[in-house]
Amino acid sequence: MASIAFEGVGKRYGEVEILRALDLAIPDREFMVFVGPSGCGKSTALRMIAGLEQVTDGRLAIGGRAVNDIAPKDRDVAMVFQNYALYPHMSVAENIGFGLKMRKVPKAEIETRVREVAKSLALEPYLDRKPKALSGGQRQRVALGRAIVRNPSVFLFDEPLSNLDAKLRVGMRAEIIRLQRQLATTAVYVTHDQTEAMTMGDRIAVLAPLAEAGKSTLMQVGTPLELYDRPQNLFVAKFIGNPHMAVLETTVTEDGTLAQPGLRLPGPGALAAGSRVFAGIRPEDVRRAGDHAFARPVTFTGTVEILETLGHEVIFHVRVGEDLILAKANDHHNLPRLGDRLDWTLNADRLHLFDGARHQRLASQIGGRG
Ligand code: ADP
Ligand code: MG
Repeated sequence: MASIAFEGVGKRYGEVEILRALDLAIPDREFMVFVGPSGCGKSTALRMIAGLEQVTDGRLAIGGRAVNDIAPKDRDVAMVFQNYALYPHMSVAENIGFGLKMRKVPKAEIETRVREVAKSLALEPYLDRKPKALSGGQRQRVALGRAIVRNPSVFLFDEPLSNLDAKLRVGMRAEIIRLQRQLATTAVYVTHDQTEAMTMGDRIAVLAPLAEAGKSTLMQVGTPLELYDRPQNLFVAKFIGNPHMAVLETTVTEDGTLAQPGLRLPGPGALAAGSRVFAGIRPEDVRRAGDHAFARPVTFTGTVEILETLGHEVIFHVRVGEDLILAKANDHHNLPRLGDRLDWTLNADRLHLFDGARHQRLASQIGGRG
């Protein structure tokens, strides 16, 4: 059993506060992803689980046992780093087996386990090579092998794929998930890449830099689709989703709507006229007028300012007054041109509204999905 629990965990380096009030329960065998912009404290949080950083506030537990004062070697965790951290003078086999050797595991057993792991990672042909004679992907697999061979109850990954090219990265994502399922371990995976988080995590924890965070560094925890469909605050709304959600700064009018130059949106209902509201809308919820029949359409006119042709889809950046709204088309035939002024329709059921001051999702909201 290796659940992990952060209970009011904080981290300071001297006077400088890095993490605040982390409350997060990671059940046994979950694949949890920590995501957030560079510098928000993801690695610090991960290194606290490993025991490489001291917890300065609160309690951190692994398998129900507080580990605040437990040495790294007694935590039954294994960590994989971005830069692989392989020993250059050792062969692949020696690199994979090194941790076992340090633990005085008998030589014959080390050989058997290294061979098994090498087989599951397709590294058998390379066991006698030195790291410098391997590709980036192979090196990263050796680093994985070194973690797997110890049969830990928790795997920790710190941006392990950042040094790989895009295609290899996609393959390795699938491989890491396959291994984690097969080994039935708990995994915590750190990345700054929201696509990686969305594709890999059973659940995702979004962290924010303290300057933007407020009460806690932890902005939201949930499944990928919970974060995508119901971001609880503006930070998560802007961070999750690629291409990103367009966000308009609006004000509630006397009749309760949100009026922008060239566009009038349904308002949140409960707020008084003059209240500031952020209104977010994802590109797939905005289409060329006539292309799509939304249940609650809002139509407007806007000018195509940027066109991103991705092959399977096209993203338009549409100028409406002072705002840029992203719209999507799945068909790249009869494309409009830059500068064309056209009619568009957006799905008011999928508007995301946030309080102008606190940046929190507004409870009373139009439409089914909230
Ligand atoms: P992330 O992994 O999300 O990019 P880190 O956890 O590496 O962020 O770092 C979070 C913040 O903590 C950064 O501002 C970084 O400069 C600071 N930091 C990291 N390690 C130390 C340290 N040993 N002493 C002081 N500040 C540190
Ligand atoms: Mg980091």
